[in-house]
Amino acid sequence: MEPDIAVELHTRARAKGLKYAALHCAYQTKSKPGTFGIKYSDIGHVKRNVRSKLENVQKCHKALTAKVRDSFLKNFTYAIKQNADKSEREMMCALQTIVPHTYGEHGNCGEWCRSRGGADAGHRNLPFGAPLQDTHLKISLENLLAPYIINADKLRTTGSSQANESLNNAAWSKTPKSRNYNRSKSFDYRLSAAVLQFNDRYSYINEIVNEKILTPQKHTEMYSKKMNEERKRQKMYKSSINAKRRRLELKFERSTKAKIDEIKEGTSYESFCGFDSSDLDILDIPDMITKATDDLEKKNINIVLFDLETTCLGKNAEILQLAAKSDDTSFSCYFLPDGDIDPKASNVNSLTVKRDINGNRYLRKNGRDMHAGTIGDGLRDFLG
Ligand SMILES: [Zn+2]
Repeated sequence: MEPDIAVELHTRARAKGLKYAALHCAYQTKSKPGTFGIKYSDIGHVKRNVRSKLENVQKCHKALTAKVRDSFLKNFTYAIKQNADKSEREMMCALQTIVPHTYGEHGNCGEWCRSRGGADAGHRNLPFGAPLQDTHLKISLENLLAPYIINADKLRTTGSSQANESLNNAAWSKTPKSRNYNRSKSFDYRLSAAVLQFNDRYSYINEIVNEKILTPQKHTEMYSKKMNEERKRQKMYKSSINAKRRRLELKFERSTKAKIDEIKEGTSYESFCGFDSSDLDILDIPDMITKATDDLEKKNINIVLFDLETTCLGKNAEILQLAAKSDDTSFSCYFLPDGDIDPKASNVNSLTVKRDINGNRYLRKNGRDMHAGTIGDGLRDFLG
């Protein structure tokens, strides 16, 4: 959220006597000094921030694999969630134990740690179930956590701005930018409808009809009922294990695709990535390629068109006939295949393989024996 908008929202809300316990902003929001007493962070943003920092650390420390990063992030999230209602000191201690815990030092771990008090329960989420060893990596991880430990108090009040996203989506669906409703007179009504939908779900339509003593419309009632049911169904599905698993699968697919694309194309999406011209893949735009036919006409080169008939489709296909044409010359030659001809191919090229009583094989076309040589001889003739 832009700082100015946050300040204005806060001021207006207070002026209207609106009471709320917390105002959740994105972590990167910087409030103007003196306007807010306390800043609140969004847990989603904090996690994303730690994740990207971990990815940066990984560039210097290969031991920080995806599995280790996931484990670290999991510990970090647990520490924040489990200490959300506790004191600043407790939050600080919880964050300080993450790195030692990952390195097998459980002296200060809380009750959550299975290896606490000398019991070696291993590390289920780390490679080979063993604690990390790399001391250089340890320092980097401690440095990474340092700002969060200092700001432990702010992390005690993390919330989620997901509800805001939901309201945004509702507003977006009623006032799409592509229609430019913000300059139309219906804009206020549309935005109000979004707020009502967010607060009262689709039953707000019926309530308006009743309040304004409009004739109750059967279709309106059916619509709001249908939309409410659909919403309930979606909500139930989204919280099911199958949906959560599918979300993780899709996330994994997306991140894998992004990684493959970055290997192929370099970084294509990052703040100011266009400013860094040091690793541009294409330095010059190559000259236009002239059409092949223009060149051929100039050089007076003959074009040879050729066609193959085969036993079937796919990489096991054998060539049955090679035919070519160039200006007045034409070429055709048949080959006896080692295998059988697919009946579907026979239907197209009318070629079949028959055996006589001695077991000799012949290539036939429309009931006539064809002279079929070896592929080597045929190609030599063709090139000659
Ligand atoms: Zn521990």
